[in-house]
Amino acid sequence: MQLNQNIMNLKPSASLVFMKKAKEMKAAGLDIVDLAGGEPDFDTPAPIIEEAYRQMKAGFTHYTVGQALPELMEKLSVKLKEENDILCRPDEIMVTPGGKNGIYLAVRAILNPGDEALYLDPAWVSYVPIIQTAAGVPVPVKLSYENHYRVTYEALKEKVTEKTKMLIINYPNNPTGKILSAEELDDIEKFMLENQKVILLSDEVYERIVFDGKKSLSPASRSAIRDRVVTVNGFSKSAAMTGWRLGYVAASREILVSTYKLFQHSLSCVSGFVQKAAIVALDCQKEMDEMVRCYEERRNAFIGKLNAVDGIEAELPPGAFYAWIKCSKNNMNSQEMCEYLLNEAKVVGVPGSSYGEGGEGCLRYSFANSMDALMEAADRIKAAMDKL
Ligand code: GLU
Repeated sequence: MQLNQNIMNLKPSASLVFMKKAKEMKAAGLDIVDLAGGEPDFDTPAPIIEEAYRQMKAGFTHYTVGQALPELMEKLSVKLKEENDILCRPDEIMVTPGGKNGIYLAVRAILNPGDEALYLDPAWVSYVPIIQTAAGVPVPVKLSYENHYRVTYEALKEKVTEKTKMLIINYPNNPTGKILSAEELDDIEKFMLENQKVILLSDEVYERIVFDGKKSLSPASRSAIRDRVVTVNGFSKSAAMTGWRLGYVAASREILVSTYKLFQHSLSCVSGFVQKAAIVALDCQKEMDEMVRCYEERRNAFIGKLNAVDGIEAELPPGAFYAWIKCSKNNMNSQEMCEYLLNEAKVVGVPGSSYGEGGEGCLRYSFANSMDALMEAADRIKAAMDKL
């Protein structure tokens, strides 16, 4: 069959492949610890569920019109101003089924075939395929473990060409857990000011999951580049709402009008009762803070234990909920090591190479899991590594 060549050639999502593999192993009765997917183990806070249920029962089950419910756009505009220092009118916001869909729509609306899109490598598994769906050309800007994955003006400048149209960044970062420092943001701003054709997409879906009292920075807070920054965020990670599929995009009207056209022809709207629940979710600060407190506790304990394993080196990530560990013995690459630990320790993670060349040598394990599961995983990993 002559199907779309671009789509046929896409790599499947490693996150989803490993999440499925773990589910299948569990269903087959294997005693595995599943740390593959980036998904909070917490239930969605009760007030959010109650609001969705109440709205459904009240008959709020029809299409909604526009980019989102006006009261949700209003509330998100206040949130972005107060928490992220982003000045953004309600009509510069669009609500999407998950942050991933927001990224997809924005990339499709921005790139023309052949346009180059820079992304920081290691990178979350879906940026490259999304760029490719638009017949864009993904261009990695390789960051290094040794340099703590610091992004610099020089590294960006080295990869820019006449055809560069986009730069995609993600902080707090999946998979490395790094957050954007003020110096890095200065470098990005300098790059953006020198390259006026470039649009920056900032994926901030882990924005609220930061530790040690740190804060994640938003590039759209810099007024000089604000009009060329697309900010994507969502409720999946912060409010434990992965299955609800709920995200949003904030961008200038020019970018949003085009992105919204694609939304109209592919989605129509996000479920109304889910949008109503989102309004309540934005007020669940106490519940969200408690989840972050738990992640921090788990991070400290899990990374602490892994660091004591011969062949493993792990830094405390300042954000997101992934242990991104350097793991090597016997010259095994990350795919081989991940498979070895899957078979020998029955712990499911994702090989660093799934995140690009810059991820080789590392493994990703999610610590959005119970403390018991994490301690068990660390013990099993130690026993398996000691056998090598
Ligand atoms: N973002 C999460 C992960 O990296 C969930 C799955 C996905 O959408 O990629 O595991």
